[in-house]
Amino acid sequence: MRRHYRRSGGGAAKQRGAAVAPSAAAMGGQARIEVFGTWDFKWPLGTKIRIAFQQLPSQPSPEEGGISAADFGSAKALVRDRMAVWMAAMKGIELDVEFVEPDLEPPLGEEHSLTDQHRSPFDPVSPRKQPYDVLISLQDLPVTRVDPFQASDRLRIEIPFPDSALGAYARHADYGAPTVYLGRFRGWRENNPRADLSFYLKSAVGVHMTMHELGHVLGLPHMHQHPHLSDARDTHFQKVPDIQAVLARILGEPPSRTLIEDNIIAAWPGNLAFSDWLPVTTREREEYEQKGVLDSIMTHPYYRHLLQKASQAIVPEDALDLPDQPGRRDIEMLHRMYNPDFAVTHDAPLVEPRAGGGSGPSQANPKSQATRRM
Ligand SMILES: [Zn+2]
Repeated sequence: MRRHYRRSGGGAAKQRGAAVAPSAAAMGGQARIEVFGTWDFKWPLGTKIRIAFQQLPSQPSPEEGGISAADFGSAKALVRDRMAVWMAAMKGIELDVEFVEPDLEPPLGEEHSLTDQHRSPFDPVSPRKQPYDVLISLQDLPVTRVDPFQASDRLRIEIPFPDSALGAYARHADYGAPTVYLGRFRGWRENNPRADLSFYLKSAVGVHMTMHELGHVLGLPHMHQHPHLSDARDTHFQKVPDIQAVLARILGEPPSRTLIEDNIIAAWPGNLAFSDWLPVTTREREEYEQKGVLDSIMTHPYYRHLLQKASQAIVPEDALDLPDQPGRRDIEMLHRMYNPDFAVTHDAPLVEPRAGGGSGPSQANPKSQATRRM
């Protein structure tokens, strides 16, 4: 169903499916939000998202840091448990999830071309395919892969940290190419050399990372990239090299400038009134700008340490107050995206975009709108 919203001031109520909205009086005196347009990465309403796992590439022994078959089985169960947490929070949302078996075969490996080496094999002569929408890899990171839908200068992508295609963009991927990577990142493995994959997925970092990426699977963007939160980003965030230095200490290696711009700094392009972004209250923005706090698992608490106001030395241990549950904003966004009966309400003044940012046509480099999210 296509939904229409238009900001019309004051309170807001949802208008469903009609070309001409009834008057405010007919809506019980509430003003309405009615907007044309949608986000093409949203799953169609009512989708049951089929999620498959890809088997691991051949592994060294567990003593040498490899992942055993039993560990892999436990890890898959832990990921399913995390998705169950999302689903429990999604009552009334017209989206469902189903894990499908069997797993896809391991990736073809390095002896194949760069475009193919991360894919499970597929025989075009006798195409017996496992139907799925989302394919999860649990192999250790980083991995290098190719995204044929990117411009030539971005074709080859390094995935140093957990990462997911945004929502239905998972369907862009060729058969057998993972759309989600949830494996152990290098910094964690170096700090925990004898810990297995399940241990990682049960750790505070692993739970948070997995929940965050599964939020992207459902189609949630980063809440800190809200157009009305990010429009002061030049004065809000530290400079990119400083951000790289902080993240290198937390994550074990510095993300590239592109990853930082795509995932942290850049405001989402476009106009709030033509999207599913929820309005932000002045109180929420103030809290975010002062402390980097948002009630969302779709932002990393690490990012608090990237603000100019928080530039004093912060050690990784301090960063581990990691949420393990969807926040209020996440649930509201999912309702906004997938619940036709959802009415937007707010009890505090809303922010207006600052001059030069957050409204009007895209003010960000369109190339920075990557289809994958860290
Ligand atoms: Zn993310």
